[in-house]
Amino acid sequence: MKTILTSSVAKASEIILKNNLAAFPTETVYGLGANAYSSAAVKKIFIAKGRPSDNPLIVHIGDIGQLPSVISKIPLFAEKLIAEYFPGPLTLVLPKNKNISSLVTAGLQTVGVRIPNHNIAQKFLKECGVPVAAPSANISGKPSPTTWQAVQQDLNGKISCILKGNPSRVGVESTVVDCTGKTPVILRAGGVTLEQLREIIPSTRLSRLTANGKVKSPGMKYRHYSPLANVVVVGGVKETVPLKSSAYIGMEKTKENGFGVKRICRTKEEYAQALFHFFRECDAKKIETIYCEQVSEEGIGLALMDRIRKASL
Ligand code: AMP
Ligand code: MG
Repeated sequence: MKTILTSSVAKASEIILKNNLAAFPTETVYGLGANAYSSAAVKKIFIAKGRPSDNPLIVHIGDIGQLPSVISKIPLFAEKLIAEYFPGPLTLVLPKNKNISSLVTAGLQTVGVRIPNHNIAQKFLKECGVPVAAPSANISGKPSPTTWQAVQQDLNGKISCILKGNPSRVGVESTVVDCTGKTPVILRAGGVTLEQLREIIPSTRLSRLTANGKVKSPGMKYRHYSPLANVVVVGGVKETVPLKSSAYIGMEKTKENGFGVKRICRTKEEYAQALFHFFRECDAKKIETIYCEQVSEEGIGLALMDRIRKASL
């Protein structure tokens, strides 16, 4: 299959309406989109990514007006979260509209829905008109793509189109919040922080394993975000072995120049934005060990450490 590279929102949305796959930029990471009403289209996502079919997809829409086409019910606390954080890096899990393909939700009666806070993504989704199911546009298990070049690296020849944009601003995925109970439960940490959610709904909490040991968010059980190199979490540069075959990313400044690749970030936000791209850069340079400095799990640090830990498994 030939993969078209384009900056035309009209061209990419045409491809979605023909029930083929188009990758598109968002503020979190690049998504791999398919018409959420078409099981045939959604099936192509699982094949292109090699994604396990029990891992549900997030449905993306261009504006609030499209919400009733995706969900069937909305509790008051979820309305408050929408009013504050949509559009943005926040996915709400709500009872699904019957028109959403059950392949999208892996057979669940709930669906994750999000409006990206990204100009091109919004234009593209509005032009599509239909809700667009979209996981990250990478081969399953690999670091998520934060540039169109990373999408091309993983999926060239496997999808119909890549809609080009700038590098993703947030760099980690959306926060997934279960809104089917009495209070919000974070199933996956992401771009909107626990603290920000608690400002609106103070009872918001992180998910635990349910009593029977089942995870509520099926995606949480898989190894994820992994470069070829071995990822090692360190307290600081003193715990590393600087070699041409090793790399360091973190916030502690160091004059150490022995690493094959090094990236010092000024803020946790910058660290999160850089992480997946750094992993891919290390793989291209055949790095064997990537040292990632541990940071406090406040703010975006919670999502950042979640990604680093999953990559280190
Ligand atoms: P990705 O598409 O790779 O960004 O992953 C989407 C994440 O959202 C995975 O962790 C999924 O398990 C989770 N997710 C999507 N839809 C649902 C749902 N209906 N219920 C629970 N978790 C969901
Ligand atoms: Mg993903």
